[in-house]
Amino acid sequence: MLGAVFEGNGKLVLKDRFKPELKKDTEALIKVTGVGICGTDLHILQVPPAHPAKQNIILGHEFTGEVVEVGSQIPDFAPGDAVLIDPHPGCGLCEACRSGNTDICIPLLAASGEPGHPATIGIFSDGAMTSYVTVPREALYKVSPKVPSHIRALAEPLACILNATNKLKVQPGDSVVVLGAGPIGLLFTAVLKANGASKVIVSEISDYRREAAKACGATLVVDPRQEDLEAVVKRETGGGANVVVEAVGPLLPQAIQLVVTRGTVLQFGHDETVEPAIPVGVMLKKEVQILGAFIGRYSFERAAKVMESGQLPLDQIVSHRLPLSKVHEGIELLRQGKGLKIILEPEEY
Ligand SMILES: [Zn+2]
Ligand SMILES: [Zn+2]
Repeated sequence: MLGAVFEGNGKLVLKDRFKPELKKDTEALIKVTGVGICGTDLHILQVPPAHPAKQNIILGHEFTGEVVEVGSQIPDFAPGDAVLIDPHPGCGLCEACRSGNTDICIPLLAASGEPGHPATIGIFSDGAMTSYVTVPREALYKVSPKVPSHIRALAEPLACILNATNKLKVQPGDSVVVLGAGPIGLLFTAVLKANGASKVIVSEISDYRREAAKACGATLVVDPRQEDLEAVVKRETGGGANVVVEAVGPLLPQAIQLVVTRGTVLQFGHDETVEPAIPVGVMLKKEVQILGAFIGRYSFERAAKVMESGQLPLDQIVSHRLPLSKVHEGIELLRQGKGLKIILEPEEY
């Protein structure tokens, strides 16, 4: 089977690999039907890399597929089941998992060999930019096969966002600002609108992405190079937004300026090469609540329900569906800012 193998130093090579086999009775073999290219994959392929990854593994951590074979210790799943895959599966047994913190599962963190990074499938072990992958039972979630595969492939980012929005508790009448309209900013826009936000103002420099933000429910889009975003937000919200979501990386200081007194800022954009200077005086006088969010935690079941309900315009977030053999074309489109979420579909089984 063809697999996109990370060979280090920015190199991703399409290679022939053996179809994997079950090694434990707690594993399942999955036929991949769709896998998203994530910003993290681009970071891994930067030189020098902006995100660690294990060499000689198949990339691809945002994926969905169909169960082909299950080990004897997975009684609840059967061949043919459509599944969502949590690529950071907590073991369920360690002290962290038993305290409800599966995102900091102790053996999962230890297995990556990188401090602070869980051993994500598709980053630290073979992932889904190929036809078949084995996963542990903790990674499996059922989903209706009626949900199209390219939508199911959004499960991992959606689960991360549902974990984040759960903290924000947005109510009808609330105003929200989303900084950045990449796939993550778009998912926030759609979810917070569904949560009841009355105004969702999205700031984004790309024309193409601002259009996508409107399709995802933004009530106003702003090009921050053309307009004074702070003035627009003050005018539209009467003093600041109840919630500001940072979905870019370096914009926490601006988010603090845009939020209303006693409002909430969420840092989700992930760029560890930046250390923005926080306007401490503004933050404390406004009593701003600053939250962080990273990966999902008990949010895949909800992601499945959201997808099955059809209540979010998730199809607006997928800009391209490409055969796996065009993975390099997909990466190039994203590097040039010409795509939103790109889903690869393996052509051979
Ligand atoms: Zn990702
Ligand atoms: Zn654990």
